[in-house]
Amino acid sequence: MKLSTSFITLALALSPFAAAQDDARTISLKPLVNSVALQALTSKLTLLGHAREFLKFSQLSGGTRAFGSKGHNATVSYIKTLLDLTGYYDTQLQTFPYLFSSGSATFAANNEEFTTKWFTYGPSGDVTALLVPVANLGCDASDYPAEVEGKIAFISRGTCPFGLKAALAGSAKAAGAIIYNNAPELISGGTLGAPSNDAGPYAPVASISGADAEKVLALLNAGTAVTGKLHVTATTETRYTSNVIATTKGGDKNNIVFSGGHTDSVPEGPGINDDGSGTIGLLDIALRLPLFSVKNAVRFGFWTAEEFGLVGSEHYVASLTPEEQQKIALYLNFDMIASPNFGYFIYDGDGSAFGTKGPDGSAHIEKTFEDWFKSKKLISAPTEFSGRSDYGPFLDVGIPSGGLFTGAEVKKTEEQAKWWGGEAGVSYDKCYHLKCDDLSNLHTEAWVQNTRAAAHSIATYARSLDGIPRGTRSVPSQSRLQGLSYDDRKHYSCGHEVFDL
Ligand SMILES: [Zn+2]
Repeated sequence: MKLSTSFITLALALSPFAAAQDDARTISLKPLVNSVALQALTSKLTLLGHAREFLKFSQLSGGTRAFGSKGHNATVSYIKTLLDLTGYYDTQLQTFPYLFSSGSATFAANNEEFTTKWFTYGPSGDVTALLVPVANLGCDASDYPAEVEGKIAFISRGTCPFGLKAALAGSAKAAGAIIYNNAPELISGGTLGAPSNDAGPYAPVASISGADAEKVLALLNAGTAVTGKLHVTATTETRYTSNVIATTKGGDKNNIVFSGGHTDSVPEGPGINDDGSGTIGLLDIALRLPLFSVKNAVRFGFWTAEEFGLVGSEHYVASLTPEEQQKIALYLNFDMIASPNFGYFIYDGDGSAFGTKGPDGSAHIEKTFEDWFKSKKLISAPTEFSGRSDYGPFLDVGIPSGGLFTGAEVKKTEEQAKWWGGEAGVSYDKCYHLKCDDLSNLHTEAWVQNTRAAAHSIATYARSLDGIPRGTRSVPSQSRLQGLSYDDRKHYSCGHEVFDL
């Protein structure tokens, strides 16, 4: 990224300590980090200043910071540049290729527009042609009549994969295909299963609901010609992308206190809460920490491609030797910490609420956060420790973990509205994974509080790892991510199941 003058000015303004280059000698003269002092440096204005930059970055790529986009690359450069300016960290860009697949579709039949869904891996196309119904369920080449050539194949869901239907339609030279649901609702989260299929080239394809399909079928069965207008915009390609890893030059590198958040958004929006909030909170702490010295080394991981299935964090953890993994004392995750209708949720490290407990030490981390909220007279609640954010790969290798979360698409209860204010019966984040996850989608008070809680946990463990076991870890034989397909993995993001297959 080319750095503009305003960018540098902003960087310096946001990071008052940036100009003071550290070396080993000055580090030792600084006071040992303490929680109260580090927390006190958190400022709403600074957090919002970074958020405005993130929003600008999303505008470089049509309103997204999805991995592989200009908006995401600018986010990564911004973080790396600011951290480098402090001179306090050894920073690293860990760059690797990964498959990007994203798209959208529209469809109208005889000028009536229907809600339409794209299939992962589906190709782009723009087709206006007659609809030709396909026999049976379109699972066999013989189901496709000769007249489908140059037309839009109209296919029912069922029996065989979407990918085979799209490939057989392509093989029969259909110009496009609609796969309609065999139930009244829409098919959500559909996928062709792989970038290509041996049965033929994919026709541009999209899905509509079974209810809408009934209307079209009624016309077709009555012998009425139906002209379909199908438009699919999609990109499926390998893209290079980077994690940013920053480790304090000072502190004991055999006892690393690690925190992370993800730098990418979903393709649908700018991701200012998800996970601009967690990333910016951590960045802010990382830019304040240079005022202090640390006993234990502190490392920050700014992960890419979380929204494609914890790709960056998994890539990082898999790149470590067992010895390097052992040096990481614990991992703290901050993914969505400013949801507009927020809850103060802490990952259930001891398993007391949801039954899934983390590696030994995770309970201690949960308690550290609980005690902090209590000390501020704030109510907190546990949230499932499911591995569905960047802490998952750390859990998989037995590293004690924890973190904070303010909620996504789930609705706030009446009781929670009494605890935290906001609206009962409304999602914690009504703009979760949507275009409207912008500057207006931040609860700044929750954001400041959670950033302080994060600062507290980092400062506490940077001083002392009392309560965190440092012996040999027992590691499950198979990680929860291994063996998952690209599509299944893509559902493994941001703590929530948002699609059904
Ligand atoms: Zn997220």
